[in-house]
Amino acid sequence: MTSAAHDVVVIGAGANGLVAAARLGQAGLRTLLIEREEGLGGQGRLVELAPGFRAAPLGLDPGWAPAAIARALRLDGLERHGADTALTVVVEPGLLLTLPRDAGKASEAIRTYSPNDAGKWPAFTTLLSKLAGFLEVLYQTPAPDVSASSPGDLLPMLGLLRKFRALGRRDMIEFLRTLPLSVWELLDDWFEHAPLKAAVAAGGVQDHRQGPRSGGTGFVLLHHLVGAPAGSVRGRPPWRAGPAAFTEAAARAAKRLGVTVRTGAEVSRIDVRNDRVAGVVLKNGEEIAAGAVLSTADPATTLLDWVDPVWLDPEFLHAVGNIRHRGCTGVVTYALEALPELPGLASKEALAGLVSLTPSLTSLERAADAAKYGRVSESPHVEFTVPTLLWPDLAPAGKHVLVARAQYAPYWLRDGATWDATRRDALAGSVTAAIEAAAPCFQSRIAHRTTWSPLDLEERYGLREGAPSQGELGLDQILFMRPVPGWGRHATPISGLYLGGAGTHPGPGILGGPGWLAAQRLLQDRGRR
Ligand SMILES: Cc1cc2nc3c(=O)[nH]c(=O)nc-3n(C[C@H](O)[C@H](O)[C@H](O)COP(=O)(O)OP(=O)(O)OC[C@H]3O[C@@H](n4cnc5c(N)ncnc54)[C@H](O)[C@@H]3O)c2cc1C
Repeated sequence: MTSAAHDVVVIGAGANGLVAAARLGQAGLRTLLIEREEGLGGQGRLVELAPGFRAAPLGLDPGWAPAAIARALRLDGLERHGADTALTVVVEPGLLLTLPRDAGKASEAIRTYSPNDAGKWPAFTTLLSKLAGFLEVLYQTPAPDVSASSPGDLLPMLGLLRKFRALGRRDMIEFLRTLPLSVWELLDDWFEHAPLKAAVAAGGVQDHRQGPRSGGTGFVLLHHLVGAPAGSVRGRPPWRAGPAAFTEAAARAAKRLGVTVRTGAEVSRIDVRNDRVAGVVLKNGEEIAAGAVLSTADPATTLLDWVDPVWLDPEFLHAVGNIRHRGCTGVVTYALEALPELPGLASKEALAGLVSLTPSLTSLERAADAAKYGRVSESPHVEFTVPTLLWPDLAPAGKHVLVARAQYAPYWLRDGATWDATRRDALAGSVTAAIEAAAPCFQSRIAHRTTWSPLDLEERYGLREGAPSQGELGLDQILFMRPVPGWGRHATPISGLYLGGAGTHPGPGILGGPGWLAAQRLLQDRGRR
């Protein structure tokens, strides 16, 4: 059966698909947004863990929404929460270091452990903020076109160069030095207190199948700080309206701007005729004709699984096949009868921030070693948050939800082993034991536990190899090399087929950034035609 034609079909109703569809609707295109799940929001959607308990398990960090996109689409309800949600690291059971975003207060907290580190903290956070600030500029424009030759194409590059020079000589050098650096070296350069270093370094390996000693983890740390307020070392402040505030706002905008939304519809093929996209085919066989298709599913799935290879150059297909995903994060969520108690915690509000249970860079590296050899770490790096402290309605009155992220739990296991119930239970057991070590009696408060291995994330969220990034944040997989070298500007070799998910520039955690740029590219190409 063939259904009515649309100007554009957008695949996937996560942050990027919703933004792309809203932008295209705003430009007057008849836009159909297709989502395989029943609900909207992609990785950001709230899921029910147990009757009355909900969470957005992948949203430990709420991400950054570029203000220009929010303004252009009039996204509402995007105020940040006023609480200075902190980063806390367990130094040892009963001893905790809590670092608010306020650098002065954080400095005071560090002083107990190291006056030397306390003195350096404000300068360190200022530097991170400056360097991430330059990425913020880079991330709001199309990826630099290294083959540009016309004055029109070179102009944006000159603008970027001017902004780069505005960093000043010292910070320009610092920026170029930090990107390829390992977070281990970066933090060793600055600090001496092991738990402090580990707490910051975990941002450099977030969802990354490498340890803190690996080159390029300096870049990953900065990437996750883009859009964060000064003083931040891990992530951005939460939304006041709830963990799914961004995708809910984008969904409202898409509907307001005339986008037709279909949920529970799974795309299984992209129809190409004469080198040009002709529409999509759903799993149930329904054909949907469209003048253009913008996919926010990951680039490898879109190009390798949904497009007949006859339409693509073997070299290009080879490059797409080589995109590294390497999911390595497991998520364990707990429905709790009561708030966990961590002896030594100054205030329970800190549990609404990020609590990291890894006390040293060495422990972090050892946890990564397991993944290197295809094993699940027996002492994984665990960090968690209790979202019900900010949004009590996520659980019945007086009860709580705790979301824990565990690394390293690699998708690819040694000797062809696969994730099964035994492995999943073992991972959940390690995570529970790690939390129990810091919060005695934690186990007795668990009403329900849910565990997602990377395989579950793949099956449940459509994340290839369980990677929320849709493509690892390696230095060779960013900017004009994301998803593959030379194709960083959202078009593909197939006319009318565009990519706009997290696997494209500027990447994960930049809510709506890739979708917006992809939609702009599509509109620009239509203008040219
Ligand atoms: C609250 C929140 C916080 C986050 N924090 C971070 C962070 O700190 N760091 C980080 O790196 N990332 C983070 N992420 C994830 C990251 O931001 C992602 O980059 C972003 O959510 C990706 O959005 P997306 O639209 O590209 O992909 P997704 O959210 O994965 O959406 C893709 C959509 O496509 C749909 N789909 C897949 N296959 C099909 C099909 N065959 N047919 C139809 N539909 C299909 C999926 O169901 C899904 O809804 C966060 C995400 C959220 C929402």
